[in-house]
Amino acid sequence: MPVGNAMRFEFTTTGRIVFGPGTLQQVGPLARSLGRHAFVVAGRNPDRAEPLLQRLAAESIAATCFAVSGEPTTDAITGATAHARAAGCDFVIGFGGGSALDTAKAVAALLTNPGELLDYLEVIGRAQPLARPAAPCLAIPTTAGTGAEVTRNAVLASPAHRSKASLRDFSMLPRIALVDPQLTLDLPPALTAATGLDALTQLIEPYVSCRANPMTDALCTGALPHVARSLQRACEHGRDEAARADLAFASLCSGQALANAGLGIVHGFAAPLGGMFPAPHGAICAILLPHAMAANLAAARIRQPAGNTVRRYDEIARLLTGRPHATADDGVAWVRALVATLSIPRLSTYGVTTADVPLVVEKAAAASSTKGNPLPLTTAELTAILSAAL
Ligand SMILES: [Zn+2]
Repeated sequence: MPVGNAMRFEFTTTGRIVFGPGTLQQVGPLARSLGRHAFVVAGRNPDRAEPLLQRLAAESIAATCFAVSGEPTTDAITGATAHARAAGCDFVIGFGGGSALDTAKAVAALLTNPGELLDYLEVIGRAQPLARPAAPCLAIPTTAGTGAEVTRNAVLASPAHRSKASLRDFSMLPRIALVDPQLTLDLPPALTAATGLDALTQLIEPYVSCRANPMTDALCTGALPHVARSLQRACEHGRDEAARADLAFASLCSGQALANAGLGIVHGFAAPLGGMFPAPHGAICAILLPHAMAANLAAARIRQPAGNTVRRYDEIARLLTGRPHATADDGVAWVRALVATLSIPRLSTYGVTTADVPLVVEKAAAASSTKGNPLPLTTAELTAILSAAL
């Protein structure tokens, strides 16, 4: 690592992280440190939040519950915020996958702020900074993939614009992240595969990002072996606690890495695809990842022969395969084989056709995540990546 400017960086994350099997039992006192009346955002099956609600009741914390049914839309956030405000909630708990956590973070932001969501939303809104800090948020992930418990944005879909955009502010970092891997033991294999490959993408893209720094490098290189040894195992043996803990840890590290180093072209594609088609974020990232790695590698070999992108892909290959002499191409092959083994559906499953390619490519080139890609890709290269995943 050269000294000088390369060692100049900024790093921000959730102030308190409580990680480990069984840590949900500690949620009562943790929640009490944040407020008296919780707006509890849970996933599709709110019964799963019952152990959480019991512990809140035992601490005399009032709870108003809200169930999300899919990735959050701008209208859903506006409705949920009105609900939380009318109930008199003073803090928010997100309990679920990325959709529940992003909903919780967005409601926490709007709860304390005047005006409407579009005043603050990036790209399709007026992108004003929050006037006041967000309300406190406690994030409890029940999937291992998004890392949303340690990121400072919420990704919201606007069906009217057929796109997704972020609400983003430093104060939207959850005040506390409680990561209990036991909450993921019952995740079905397909969801485990898609969310796990999202976490893998969120460790690879920040590591090769043009905004990578020594802190995010340490997180990515530390967590990649955990995904490598445990993703397939967790898909095949869902109740393997060690494998589930590995994935929960990798997801946590991936959220910290992406929040501080940015992402790349896979997430650049995921923004328009997720806004235009009913495809889950994790599944989109999973099917695109090997094609994006191969394209970045080929482009870097030609256009950045003296840069360190290829060396970084070599390191990823060594960490994923466990072989000290593995090269970048071995890493791409390893990811390609894993995506095949886990039976990740192709994008055409969700209705994406060749006719959609030019518009998706145009939107991906302009997406905020794309700015982190190790080098700019041409329209032809972007078209090839997307076409390979149809
Ligand atoms: Zn992602």
